[in-house]
Amino acid sequence: MNGAEPEPRAQPKSFLHLAGGAEPPPHIRRHSRSQDLNGGTTISRFPSIKNRSMQTPPTQAAPKTTHTYPCPACGADLLYEPRDGFLSCPHCGHKEAIPTSAEQVEERSFEQYLQIRPEQLERLATNALEVQCQSCSAMVTFMPPEVAGRCDFCGVQIVAQPKSADPILAPEGVLPFRITQSQASAGLRQWLQSRWFAPNALKHFAQPDAIQGVYIPFWTYDTNTTSYYTGERGQHYHTTETYYETDSQGNQEARTRQVRHTRWSPAAGTVSRWFDDVLVPATASLAQNRLEALEPWDLAELVAYEPAFLSGFKAQRYQVDLAHGFERVKQITAAVIQSDVRQNIGGDEQRIHNVSTHYSGVTFKHLLLPVYAGAYRFNQRVFQIVVNGRTGEIQGDRPYSFWKIALLVTTLLFILLIIALVFALVKS
Ligand SMILES: [Zn+2]
Ligand SMILES: [Zn+2]
Repeated sequence: MNGAEPEPRAQPKSFLHLAGGAEPPPHIRRHSRSQDLNGGTTISRFPSIKNRSMQTPPTQAAPKTTHTYPCPACGADLLYEPRDGFLSCPHCGHKEAIPTSAEQVEERSFEQYLQIRPEQLERLATNALEVQCQSCSAMVTFMPPEVAGRCDFCGVQIVAQPKSADPILAPEGVLPFRITQSQASAGLRQWLQSRWFAPNALKHFAQPDAIQGVYIPFWTYDTNTTSYYTGERGQHYHTTETYYETDSQGNQEARTRQVRHTRWSPAAGTVSRWFDDVLVPATASLAQNRLEALEPWDLAELVAYEPAFLSGFKAQRYQVDLAHGFERVKQITAAVIQSDVRQNIGGDEQRIHNVSTHYSGVTFKHLLLPVYAGAYRFNQRVFQIVVNGRTGEIQGDRPYSFWKIALLVTTLLFILLIIALVFALVKS
């Protein structure tokens, strides 16, 4: 990449002081979307993987040779092994370390990338193949010897012929799988057993190949924000009011009480804040809330992208593009900015009429995060289950079986009826 770009992290620290120590809304804090929220530091959580800056055009890497990983001992394809992080031969057990990229991955510039031509993009891997699901239009990229098979997101068999993957913006960083498919499947079986009301159809997920490892695309953005606001500051004041009460003898008695009022005065000003690593899913195949439920991701463990991590796994092409992802950033940061504005207005109460935010120094990273995903169709419904490929956290539809619940309710009613009958007999 390019070493001659401006340093986008240089000035934002001073913005923090202007922004004040406003307490962020709890949901933002929980997902730790912005490093600032936890005490004002601007140190990136991804020390070795820098954002792309918006001011520098990308330099293109020389065309790479085809990414295949034949076993030197037996010739079979080496696969990425989540347990030790090596490329491993499933036949003879030969292991090979994945070469770590010596080059530092630079931050990328937002504005430049919005104008990039398709031919400037890189491939995820030179031999990556891609299919699109006819049913849910999920695009899945895979590398031989992996095959597409059943759609991991909606459960239908994919019939389309795979084609050579079109170039995409290659990721800067990847969080490699840490738990294996058999570990994820075992966790899933346990999860299913603890759901007594789930329909028997969900037992499909107990099959060992019901979920598959897929790298899901994400964007993370860094941005400066400067927000001009207008609003009102409310100051409380109290007045003493006289009121009358009738006592037990029927006499009117004068009493006083303190009444609180708010005096409003116009307020306007500017707040600034630096947001670091705002994470936005770039997939359209999994619901936003389901992906958020898989958090937290140990993003401190990100490594520079290397196609070898995809060997034996699938990956998804980003479906939310860079510009649309930034629209989500605006939504995510709005709540924090609003809280900054309230802090800045001060007083006892605040009214916000208008906030207009300017975003500057926007940089981004494209990341792949590991997920085991599976889908099953039953009664015209799609049941989707996802497992965090690092922590084993499971999220999925929790449908309730009508018949199982009906059976339980009937049984309980029957027991109540017996008890009532016994009581009635004892009394008579
Ligand atoms: Zn081998
Ligand atoms: Zn599908």
